[in-house]
Amino acid sequence: MKAVVVNKEGTGVEVVETSLRPLKVGEALVDVEYCGVCHTDLHVAHGDFGKKPGRILGHEGIGIVREVAEGVTSLKVGDRVSIAWFFEGCGRCEYCVTGNETLCRSVINAGYTADGGMAQECIVTADYAVKVPEGLDPAQASSITCAGVTTYKAIKVGKPQPGQWVVIWGAGGLGNLAVQYAKKVFNTNVVAVDINDDKLALAKEVGADYVINGKKEDPVKKILELSNGGAHISVVTAVSKVAFNQAIDSARAAGKVVAVGLPSETMDVSIVKTVLDGIEIIGSLVGTREDLKEAFEFGAQGLVVPVVQTRTIEEAPAIFEEMEQGKIQGRMVIDMKAGCSCGHKH
Ligand SMILES: [Zn+2]
Ligand SMILES: [Zn+2]
Repeated sequence: MKAVVVNKEGTGVEVVETSLRPLKVGEALVDVEYCGVCHTDLHVAHGDFGKKPGRILGHEGIGIVREVAEGVTSLKVGDRVSIAWFFEGCGRCEYCVTGNETLCRSVINAGYTADGGMAQECIVTADYAVKVPEGLDPAQASSITCAGVTTYKAIKVGKPQPGQWVVIWGAGGLGNLAVQYAKKVFNTNVVAVDINDDKLALAKEVGADYVINGKKEDPVKKILELSNGGAHISVVTAVSKVAFNQAIDSARAAGKVVAVGLPSETMDVSIVKTVLDGIEIIGSLVGTREDLKEAFEFGAQGLVVPVVQTRTIEEAPAIFEEMEQGKIQGRMVIDMKAGCSCGHKH
């Protein structure tokens, strides 16, 4: 089978012909249909989290179970399942047993500490593969497996009430999905902030009530005005310290700022505002299996529709290059069947 792996030098990716080991107890073999390409894959490919030469990338995989090993009761052959960044937890620690499994200190991540879904086949730990509901397009499901669940969870931890003001900072791949979850699932007033008019136009199209170009007007002033006092919840997907600071400055009393984007900087937090206004700053990392199940369900109901573009596996190195150059709009998803002449029944 073909797979996208980190190259020997640990500086990028290459497409190779390889095969997987036999299944162990509790595992399932999945014929991958689609796998999205995420910024995190680029970090792994570049060795930003440690060198991983030969590792099969991919944590936005969707595929059909072809075989189950001994001891598997949660999946059967023919099920459509996900291969997510949260690939497996220990199942016993304080995080795993309190609904915070993504924080497990012995977590295994697909495409990083385990071979991932950017290949024609993938081995999953059956109990950790989340089933994709009927009626959800598998290419779109691939996007929900990472970007969708990440933004859904980020809004969910803010505990929004209908009619509250939710501000999404950064209207790219994550932000676009965040707008949809905030509007269509949580029924809030949604403001999207970005510095790119095209991304803001797309945010408006998918449900943002207001859009603000931070280069053209002061987003803090505008948010305070629109919401009559500030945002109840701000979700910051932007990879910019400026956005984090503006999110804090535009928070309502008792407001929450949820951090999702990962700029390698620090934010300037006014201690006085934090104390006097009772601001909460929350870090949110992907989502649990239950969060993913919920995020899929809203996709299946048609409330949230990821914008995806499909490519072939041979194009993977080009996709990574485009991503590095910031040329990608929306989400690139590799169609594992496209352009394949290996003779396998995928
Ligand atoms: Zn991802
Ligand atoms: Zn654990």
